[in-house]
This record gives sequence, C-alpha cells and structure tokens, in this order.
Amino acid sequence: MPELPEVEVVRRGLARWITGRTVAEVQVLHPRAVRRQPAGAGEFAALLTGATFGSAQRRGKYLWVPLDDGETSMLGHLGMSGQLLVQDPATPDETHLRVRLRFTDGGRELRFVDQRTFGGLAAEQAEAGDPEATPVSLAHIARDPLDPRFDDAAFAAALRARRTTVKRALLDQTLISGVGNIYADEALWRSKLHYDRPTESLTRPLAATLLANAREVMNAALAVGGTSFDSLYVNVNGESGYFSRSLDAYGREGEPCYRCATPIRRAAWMNRSSYYCPRCQRVPRPR
Ligand SMILES: [Zn+2]
Repeated sequence: MPELPEVEVVRRGLARWITGRTVAEVQVLHPRAVRRQPAGAGEFAALLTGATFGSAQRRGKYLWVPLDDGETSMLGHLGMSGQLLVQDPATPDETHLRVRLRFTDGGRELRFVDQRTFGGLAAEQAEAGDPEATPVSLAHIARDPLDPRFDDAAFAAALRARRTTVKRALLDQTLISGVGNIYADEALWRSKLHYDRPTESLTRPLAATLLANAREVMNAALAVGGTSFDSLYVNVNGESGYFSRSLDAYGREGEPCYRCATPIRRAAWMNRSSYYCPRCQRVPRPR
C-alpha cells in the first residue's frame, strides 16, 4: 500500500507534468475507478473536459489537482495498488488501465492504473475561498507532519488528550494524517514506545519525540523515493519496497533489534501486524 512519501512523490510528479495543461478528453474504462463521483463517469468526464489543471496538492495519502474554474478539484486516492502514470500516447495501454486523460497539447497522457481498483478519481467541489482548493470530503482529514502548516504543539496536546492507545492515535486521520502502519511501527521503535501505550500516559517531551521520529522516518523515505519524479513518468508501486532496506522494525520478525539484538516480534493488531522490540518497547503495565 502506498504510504505518504510515495504519494508525495506522485504529487511532485503531477505538479511537474500536468500543471497548466488542459484536458481534451476523458475515458473511463472501468466505472469502479470513478465510483465516488455522485453521477458517475459522465459527470466526471464533463467536469474535467476543457478544464486546465493547477498544481497538485496532497493531504495525507489523498491527492488532488485544482481546476481552473476555482471551485472544482480532481481528487485521487491510490488505494492498495493504484498508480498515476504520465505516459506517451504511443505507449500501449496497461492491463489494468482504468481512466485515461488526454490533453489538448497532444503530449503525455495521464493514466490511472489500478489492479484491485480500491483507489479512484473524482471531480469534487472545493472548499470555498480555500487557496489550496481542498475537496470538501477531505475537510475532516488532519494535516500530515510533512505539511509546513502542521501544528506540532497542537498535535502533542491533542494526542495526550485522547483516551486511546498510541498506535491507534497515529493512524487516526482526524488527528494526524499520512502515518500508515509501516511508519507508525518505525516511529514507535525509534521512540521506544509500545504500540498499546495509553496516549494519556505520554509526557509532553515523549509526544514531541514521537512526532519528530515519525517526521524523520517519512523524510528519510521521501529522500530515497524522491528520485522517481525526475523520470519521465510518475509511478508509485506499493510493492516496490524501495524503503524496506532501511526499516528498523517493520517486516523484521525474528531478526535482531538494531539497538539491543533482541529478536523483533510481530503481533496481530487490528487486522494488521505490529512489529516491535519486546525489550526496547515494553508492554505498558495495566493500571
Ligand atoms: Zn531492542
């Protein structure tokens, strides 16, 4: 599943390759890819055709591109396997091509490719007066730690005020966005925090450390993945694992902790897995 740094790479690629270009034609090849569009594929195509794209924006794992009408944005979510490709029109169609946008300049097409089609695109109303033209459905999603407008102090206070456990809080998109399962486990390992630690037990410095570590992990991933937007196409592939070589906890079950050499454990957690060091990240004592 693409995590925030991978989505940010896609955002930069879109900003580079489609900003200022006008849509000539929209082809929806699978209706599931536009299922969030209230009136379906026809409405999606009608809203986009003739529109000129502004610069791509992102909040967490959601991407959007403002249209020049000032009140609509094209919203995209990559789901589990979605890819946005900027391809030469002569490139043969991908097996799982779902949506194609042709541009008036006859140049590279934008293609949405998604094997499992959990992701999708929609043309949606933007929040009135918002310079970033944020789609209304994203209004409840918090900013992510790589966003220059993220408020560190407000996050730390909100985190400590929650009555939940720390990993649940990290994955709560209304509190902080963009921290997926992998980056949560990595940030918790760096912070020596167990995933079930109650948030109200976090001191202010611990909350700050946790946030700093989450940001560091994401920035490191971004630095590694940041080369792909210089290539001729935008590509994101959650399976590629370009960052997996530098993970400290996630996916390392049975391998020695890089701090203390204790084997990393994997625990079932909310239909997912949590990887942690049982020595560095002690299970919180029941109170
Ligand atoms: Zn350890």
